[in-house]
Amino acid sequence: MLQSRELSAFRKQLLGWFRQFQRDLPWRRNKDPYRIWLSEIMLQQTRVAAVIPYYERFLERFPDVGTLAEASQQEVLRFWSGLGYYSRGRNLQRAAQQIVAKHNGIFPQTEDDVVALPGIGRYTAAAILSIAFGAKHAVLDGNVARVLARLGAIHGDLREAQRWQGLQKSADDLLDPKSPSDWNQGLMELGAMICTPRSPQCLLCPVAKFCRARQMGLAESLPEKRKTRSRVEITLAAAVLLDARGRTLLLPPPHASRKQATHEEVAALVSKMWHFPTVAVKKNSALELREFLSKLLSVPARDRTLRLEPLSRARHCVTYRDIALLPFRVLVPKLPRISGAKLISLSLLASPSSLAVSNLTRKVARAALADPTFSTALP
Ligand code: SF4
Repeated sequence: MLQSRELSAFRKQLLGWFRQFQRDLPWRRNKDPYRIWLSEIMLQQTRVAAVIPYYERFLERFPDVGTLAEASQQEVLRFWSGLGYYSRGRNLQRAAQQIVAKHNGIFPQTEDDVVALPGIGRYTAAAILSIAFGAKHAVLDGNVARVLARLGAIHGDLREAQRWQGLQKSADDLLDPKSPSDWNQGLMELGAMICTPRSPQCLLCPVAKFCRARQMGLAESLPEKRKTRSRVEITLAAAVLLDARGRTLLLPPPHASRKQATHEEVAALVSKMWHFPTVAVKKNSALELREFLSKLLSVPARDRTLRLEPLSRARHCVTYRDIALLPFRVLVPKLPRISGAKLISLSLLASPSSLAVSNLTRKVARAALADPTFSTALP
C-alpha cells in the first residue's frame, strides 16, 4: 500500500494523533486481557456509549474470569440483559469456563488457543492479543476495513473473500511492529471518530495526505454499498397473563424446557430467554394466540375466562427482521401452573437487569404497563 519512507511517516502521524487525542474509555485504563476481551465482545454491533454502563456493571459483578466461570448462565444473562445479541454473553461464559478448565484461569496468549474459545474470531483474537500482550497481530473488522478501503481507494464489496484477504494483507503490512497495541487502537479510533461511515472529516484527518480516496474525491463514496438482504416482516402476538397481584407468567428459556411450548422461530426472536407466551401469527392475531394459549393452558379455546384485550402495538428489529409486536392482556383470577414457568411482578420486568429477558419481552411488558387502564384493570 505504501513504500517504506511513506510508511514510516504514516505510522508516525497516526500514532502521534492517537496518543494525543484518544478517548478515555474504561477498557483503556489497564492491560488486563479479561477486561479487554469483555469490551471487544460487548462492542460487537453495539455503540461505545451504550456499552459503557453495561461494561462497568458487568465488571463489578464478575471482576475476573473465575467469577464469570462459576456464575449461573441466568445470572450472566441478567447482567447482559438489554445489550442484545445474547449468544455473546453465553459464549463469553463458556469461554471463561474453558479458560479455567484448560488454562488454569489465565488468558491464553497464542492465536490458536484464543480462537479456539467460543465467540472469539480472528478479529477479536488480534485485538486482545495486541492490546493486552503487545503481540504483532493486525486487526481487521468493518470499521478498519472502511478506513483501509479509503486509504487505498479500493472499490467493490469489501466482504468478498479475495478482497477481504487483500485488506488483511494491507492491515498486516501497515501494522507498526513496535507498537501493535496503539497501532490497532489508532486505526480503530480513526474509523470511529474521523473516518466515519458517513461524512468522513478529512480536514481533521491525521493521515489525509496519504489517502487516495481523498485525492480522487471518493472519500464519501467509498466503500461501495453491499447488497443487503431484503427485510422480512414478522408479526408476533404475546399474552400478558395478569393476576390480581399484578404478577404475570413467563415461559422458560426455550432450550431449558424439555417440552417445547415455544416455536423455534419465536425462540430465536426472544433470544432463548424468559418470555411471554408468544406465537407468530398470520391473519387473525387474537384467534391464533387464543388457540396457542388454549393448548398451553389445556383449556378449551372457547373458554370464556380467556378474554384477550389488545394493548398498544410495538415494533422491534432484529438484523433483517422487522417485527410487529401485538401484546394482549389476559386477566386471570389465578395464574396457571406450567412446568418451568416463572411468576413475576410485571413492573419488575420493565426495568433492565431484574431478570434475563430480551428487549422484545421488555417491550411487551412496557406496553402492558403503559396501558392507561393497567392499575384499574387488575382483577
Ligand atoms: S482523508 Fe478522509 S477518507 Fe481518507 S482516511 Fe482520512 S478521513 Fe478517511
